[in-house]
Amino acid sequence: MLPQRIAYLDLDTRKVEIKDISEDITRKFLGGRGINMYLLYGHTKPETHPLSPENLLIVGPGLLTGLEGIGASRCNISGKSPETGLLGDSNMGGHFGAFMKRTGIDFLVIIGTAQKPVYIHLDGEGINVEDAQDLWGKSTIETNTVLISRYGPSSQSISIGVAGENLVRFACIINRRKNAAARTGMGCLMGAKKVKAIVVNGRKPIKPKDEGRFGILRKELQQSLNEEPLVKLLREFGSPFLFMLINQRIGMGRAYNGLSSKFSGNRNISPRLLKEYYQGRAGCFSCPVACHHEYRAGEVENEGPEYTILSSFGPVLGIRRLDTILHINDLINRYGIDGSSTANLIAWAIELFNRGLINENMTNGLKLDWGDEEAIIELIHQIAHRQGFGNVLANGAKEAVRQLGEETGKYFLWGKYLPQSDPVDLRYFPAYALGNSVASRGSDHLRSRPTWEAAGFSEEALKAIYGGRVSANPRRYEGKGRVIWWWETYLSLFDALGLCKLIAFHCRPGLLDFEFFSELIRYATGLDLTPEEIFAVGERVVTLERMFLVREGVKREDDFPPQRYFEPLAWQDDLKPAEKDLKLDRAGFERMLDEYYDLRGWNRKGRPLEETIKHLGLS
Ligand code: SF4
Repeated sequence: MLPQRIAYLDLDTRKVEIKDISEDITRKFLGGRGINMYLLYGHTKPETHPLSPENLLIVGPGLLTGLEGIGASRCNISGKSPETGLLGDSNMGGHFGAFMKRTGIDFLVIIGTAQKPVYIHLDGEGINVEDAQDLWGKSTIETNTVLISRYGPSSQSISIGVAGENLVRFACIINRRKNAAARTGMGCLMGAKKVKAIVVNGRKPIKPKDEGRFGILRKELQQSLNEEPLVKLLREFGSPFLFMLINQRIGMGRAYNGLSSKFSGNRNISPRLLKEYYQGRAGCFSCPVACHHEYRAGEVENEGPEYTILSSFGPVLGIRRLDTILHINDLINRYGIDGSSTANLIAWAIELFNRGLINENMTNGLKLDWGDEEAIIELIHQIAHRQGFGNVLANGAKEAVRQLGEETGKYFLWGKYLPQSDPVDLRYFPAYALGNSVASRGSDHLRSRPTWEAAGFSEEALKAIYGGRVSANPRRYEGKGRVIWWWETYLSLFDALGLCKLIAFHCRPGLLDFEFFSELIRYATGLDLTPEEIFAVGERVVTLERMFLVREGVKREDDFPPQRYFEPLAWQDDLKPAEKDLKLDRAGFERMLDEYYDLRGWNRKGRPLEETIKHLGLS
């Protein structure tokens, strides 16, 4: 497994250069997101335009991706974001990362731009750039199907759809039918380079260095996972089981673009009904959880939907029919567009329409309203094809606000120009609000989802996890800066190792801890890293991402949630008395942010201190 190897491919000259990654860099960043960020920081500048040939598209499976039976399937795809203009990074499950590792290439860095549509083929022998004119215009699923039949069952591919070809700023990249590198527009970046797909033929399975000890650890992990109550629900329902907890039981789901937290259609789209559409279980490469579900809804067959899709097209947009959501899930996967950005942009447009800030003249005759399935599906088609009003939304949130007027921005739920992926209302748990706001790629819940906030742990138990005082009340602010500091560090390691965060969110503390990582890395690769050194890798990755953002002009004021969350919910119907005045407290938020910056070793303006940079070896 070591040394890891990077292939640099220049599409202008078609030159390929392959280099080993030194042990020092692997110890500092591990792999996946860690090394992607090291490369991104080193090879881009503030003046690098996201769609220019100088921008990089970096494909990096995690250090452990490809090892069997531990949920190590993940692959990060990174570059400067065409959606936000800032940090671009997305994490994909499925099978591609594991098969790429089997080619002997651990990282692929693509620079330059092809003159005509191409796809890239990697196998153990070399890297070739092939003509893709016959694939241009095809959906992601069609493209992947053609390439797998061309290269055989030991191949896997990722591709963009029509949205990526049309440079929709939030286009994504798909492996198979639904595994998406979804956020920050990496499909747009791939489209700008005229790369339709990447196909890998990996024939050499990845073996751990110490197979005996690794096998024992794997068995223990699998036994423990079988005993986790939430993992059982994850297997049974897929991630939509979260809908039952968050939207139905706690009642903190985001509805109608955050005007409400209550959606009367919750029961119509309950995961229990979703099971009627399920045809069988599926999963990412060699995953012991296998949380995906294949479904059929009329003519439509696909996998999913994930919780974010169910909630974003359900409560956030007001759709109350499961078959419609399943149809949309299939549609966005085929077009290759990020569901979170798509739903949030449409929700924002509906609110603008209802407020009279946009009208039918501006939407080319399209009337927009909550739950209007036909109009919503029409807008999705328009976005992917850059037609009509969809062409405005296809430019992404930042440009759409500029085009429709700065006034409209105050109705957008976003951070650092990225629409909020987490379909929860951030008024409910301050820690969630902080996590979404400081997230390095923009408003996002997969950098730090502190799920244990809802678990009812005592202060003593929380102190043992986080190493300092944390309020046990999820509505309070004390110690929540510490909570997010810890979760961000912890989850960045999953991305660097190629492990699945969905598993992390649903296990009790102590199962997948830093000691476990230390043993896993030792038995898999032979590298000796103490739990403290592993924690420092997470801190290093997050601070390097902040150095990138600071270089791009990001400041403290960019680490706040939208003003809407500092006000009570606009629609008060159906709220319990305690929810009527619920809002974030600005002074409390400032204190959380200060605590978070202090623990990170950044100053109160959000800039990493020189001593922190030096201490983490990032000078
Ligand atoms: S838990 Fe689900 S999303 Fe995560 S690796 Fe396994 S199958 Fe994929």
